[in-house]
Amino acid sequence: MATFVGAVKRYLSGEAEQRRSIRSILLGPPGAGKGTQAINLKENFGICHLSTGDMLRAIAKEDSPLGKKVANTLSSGELVTDSLVIEIIEANLQSEACKLGFMLDGFPRNLVQAEKLDEYLVGQDEPLNNVVEFKVKDDILVERISGRMIHQSSGRTYHEVFAPPKVEMTDDVTGEPLMKRPDDNPTVLSRRLDIYHEQTAPLISFYEKKGILRSVDAMQSPEKVFEDISVHFKQ
Ligand code: AMP
Repeated sequence: MATFVGAVKRYLSGEAEQRRSIRSILLGPPGAGKGTQAINLKENFGICHLSTGDMLRAIAKEDSPLGKKVANTLSSGELVTDSLVIEIIEANLQSEACKLGFMLDGFPRNLVQAEKLDEYLVGQDEPLNNVVEFKVKDDILVERISGRMIHQSSGRTYHEVFAPPKVEMTDDVTGEPLMKRPDDNPTVLSRRLDIYHEQTAPLISFYEKKGILRSVDAMQSPEKVFEDISVHFKQ
């Protein structure tokens, strides 16, 4: 019924031909390389990259009660409320940048969020069609995250040992300073990984049952991971 209503709404608004062909999720633990691959996928397929972590970090900088609350939650490694992330995802999915398709990164993170997302997208007659699982062992994640440096505006990431910038703490492309995420420290990281295993990993079987899950070995080089993921985006 919701699908039919969505189709009628789109027909009436003259958008019948504009159903987005790529409606995807990048699913994986912190440090799996989702952000790095999102930059490549966005460039190659012209779809938007919606990272709830990035959006929440922007809110956390605001000088407001919500900003302070979000900043505290982020620095503890706990999750913010489902209603907040659902609201920001739904608002952003309507943006012009997402006209050709979208990939969600960091969302959904639990079953409640996954079910709400389904409900919303089915209502738009645009159910998800591609969930890419990034498979990485925990000890590799710890190694990757402990040395991670980020160029905030582009999302480019570096690593102290495996992918150092040409100049210390400086982005190779823009020359701007790099930052280390405050929640990339061993204590908070361990909490983030526990939450991933407890609340987010169950989504793997949730999407597997729907027949839209594709798993990639994200412990390979970034180039090889991109090659493996692209196959699923071209279908
Ligand atoms: P990320 O950049 O995806 O590692 O997210 C950073 C932090 O933002 C997480 O540790 C959570 O505190 C919060 N966060 C991001 N996405 C979500 C989400 N879908 N639900 C709840 N909290 C989130």
